[in-house]
Amino acid sequence: MAEKTNTKGLTVKKSEDMPEWYSQVVLKSELADYSAVRGCAVIRPLGYDLWQGIMDYFNARLKLLGIKNAYFPLFIPESFFKREAGHVEGFAPEVAWVEQKSKDEEKLALRPTSETVMYDSYAKWIRSHRDLPLLINQWCNIVRWEVKDVKLFLRSREFLWQEGHCVFATEQECDEHALQMIKEYQRLAEELLAIPITTGLKSKKETFAGAKHTYAIEAFMPDGKALQCGTSHNLGQGFAKAFNITYKGTDEQDHTPWQSSWGFSTRLIGAVILLHGDDKGLVLPPRIAPTKAVIVPITKASDQAATRKVLAASRQLVADLKRNDTEAILDDRDEHSPGFKYNEWELKGIPIRIEVGPKDIATDSCVLVKRNDGTKQAIKLQEAPKTVTALLGQMQQELYDKAKKDVDSRQVTTNDYEALTQLLDERKIVLAHHCGDEECEDHIKADTNGGTTRCRPLGDGKPDKDATCVRCGKPAKYKILFSRNY
Ligand SMILES: [Zn+2]
Repeated sequence: MAEKTNTKGLTVKKSEDMPEWYSQVVLKSELADYSAVRGCAVIRPLGYDLWQGIMDYFNARLKLLGIKNAYFPLFIPESFFKREAGHVEGFAPEVAWVEQKSKDEEKLALRPTSETVMYDSYAKWIRSHRDLPLLINQWCNIVRWEVKDVKLFLRSREFLWQEGHCVFATEQECDEHALQMIKEYQRLAEELLAIPITTGLKSKKETFAGAKHTYAIEAFMPDGKALQCGTSHNLGQGFAKAFNITYKGTDEQDHTPWQSSWGFSTRLIGAVILLHGDDKGLVLPPRIAPTKAVIVPITKASDQAATRKVLAASRQLVADLKRNDTEAILDDRDEHSPGFKYNEWELKGIPIRIEVGPKDIATDSCVLVKRNDGTKQAIKLQEAPKTVTALLGQMQQELYDKAKKDVDSRQVTTNDYEALTQLLDERKIVLAHHCGDEECEDHIKADTNGGTTRCRPLGDGKPDKDATCVRCGKPAKYKILFSRNY
């Protein structure tokens, strides 16, 4: 029998024990829950609302970019995997196989990613240069079996994502598109979720299995760890060759096209929680918050006349806010005190709380409280819709600015290997020269208790003249960010 989820407040501070704090916020704010199914999580309605908001935002962008949604099978034949050597090697440890019912049937995997199953179809669909570019996205679930212990939204055997898979006539178009899509991800994270992003190229070791190169968006959390929030790959021509995708050019000859793929997942929700949450619970950036404001009427059972007035004014306020396109709710449960309700809505991260009491009504006023900093202001009821809209915009910007200031203050440059571990211990994000060698990266990870290369920031990754690798002293290929990571 499962234990009941405790809905009382948090028992630990974010700064004291971030993993425990995170887990409590997710469970108690009812974003997600553990499941009896090992390695799997349940996304609850509030968590799914956030995912829906991300989907809505991104679908609107896809439409503008001329990218269509489609759906491909969950099952991938073993023979598909084997066609691209680098890909099969990269995913082998985490693939879950379906039990074969008969020996005549081909062995099937549950998709850990969909390149192979999609490209088998693309080979049939693409005939001529007129079919290019082919721009397709899929929203789906993904299964990666190596995960044993669930971290809600951050790691689980099954998760939700989108994966875009596009085909181009030339390498230039392909690479421009891969870069365009990673910039779309940066825009989504920054605009919608108020998450400051560093965008760059992954090292060879961290490049997607089978890709030519990989761009990533990295977000840096308050504990100093990076959370990779999305990747975009220039796949080169390897998959096209493996899956016999060809097109007839204007010269009437057969050509091999270039491919890109790009994806982000429900991890983005994990980043929102980790970055913006506080000791009272979740803090939702207004643009992604499904409910923007909650009205808490302050009533006394002993004064029925005053109570009726307060409730009537509160209902009117909800209607006025909705008319002004602000999703608001009225919490008129009479079994809970206002104080209890304040705590609950703070835990659930609603951006604005509006208190309406008998004294406020006497002056046609109400009190607005902003979730991110607790600031209060009394305003006239009729000004509430306009003021709430302004405060929501202000809060969105404040959350981004605060996070950005924190990340900027923690980014340092060093070429001293002894200092690297200490800087990582101090939650710093360290820009250092590196030789690009995979083994050298492994050594650094072991020496620094988990320090990994995150990305070569766009525009910031060129090595200085005659610079050498921070660890091995070989000539540096580039400057790259190091941090620990989720
Ligand atoms: Zn090196």
